[in-house]
Amino acid sequence: MNLSKPVSKIDGTTRVLGLIGNPVAHTLSPEIHNTLASLCGRNLVYVPFPVEQGALDRAVQGAYALHVLGLNVTVPYKRDVLLCLKEIDPLAETVESVNTLVSVPGGYRGYNTDMSGLFRAMTEDGVALQDEEVILLGAGGVGRAVAYLCAMKGAACVFLLNRSEEKAKAVAREVNAKIGRECVLGLSLEAYRTLPAKKYLAIQATSVGMFPRLDEAVIEDPAFYRLLHTGYDLIYRPGQTKFMRQCEQAGARAFNGLKMLVYQGVEAFELWNDTTVTKEQAQEINRMLSQRF
Ligand code: NAP
Repeated sequence: MNLSKPVSKIDGTTRVLGLIGNPVAHTLSPEIHNTLASLCGRNLVYVPFPVEQGALDRAVQGAYALHVLGLNVTVPYKRDVLLCLKEIDPLAETVESVNTLVSVPGGYRGYNTDMSGLFRAMTEDGVALQDEEVILLGAGGVGRAVAYLCAMKGAACVFLLNRSEEKAKAVAREVNAKIGRECVLGLSLEAYRTLPAKKYLAIQATSVGMFPRLDEAVIEDPAFYRLLHTGYDLIYRPGQTKFMRQCEQAGARAFNGLKMLVYQGVEAFELWNDTTVTKEQAQEINRMLSQRF
């Protein structure tokens, strides 16, 4: 069976799911969700919908009018879409970033399954945030959300290192103010040299090392990697980044971002269908995607 094809033929009871964003042509979400529909025996079809600038609210209201069961939201609308919703889940409201819309009476409820998916992936990999001292590399869209996740999940502190130090400091101010404790410290990329010599969890949330820049890591100095017990790279293509290789050479555990990608999809699918995806089904998606990279 070709797992990327819907299990049932499209008929009068088929429900529609989709992705809104711009661009959307590169997305792996149709493969993830059409395969999950097959594996779970659901009569669903998932398609990408490019949405032009200025058309977001009409797109969301139109989807609701058409009984579209649920939507994913990608760049550049993860924040703007908050204004188009009937309800917002507390995690998404705190992070001010929504990637999943679930149909409720009168509109859609917004969730952030990027972060709940990352947390589920880390938990499955045995990587804890509670009481951890975390080095977070990158203060872009994902880095900012991960800073919130770490703070909300009880990290002892987060050293947020970014090429643009001002951006790291701005994210730290924002997260600390909202969370109500001084948890995140915004620093320059080079500031790892000043950190106390302990063992840290590092989360790599920059785009450095992503295909095709295979031979780059955001920090090249081997001394940095000797500070780590675990390196969690959010990049999934390639499956093993230079950051991960350097972690392993320094004796640290290393993980890539594929499981995060899988679980953000799994969590959205579960919300849309009020079901639980088994670990085996999630592993099937993981296997299918890992063959792609
Ligand atoms: P973004 O908003 O564009 O942020 C990019 C980050 O990378 C910024 O912190 C930026 O630093 C840093 N950066 C870029 N080029 C650099 C360089 N040459 N040297 C040092 N730092 C550099 O991107 P994003 O949306 O946060 O995504 C970041 C990465 O997360 C993506 O590349 C992707 O691999 C990964 N991701 C994974 C998943 C998943 O499901 N696994 C989902 C989404 C994203 P400045 O602020 O100084 O520019």
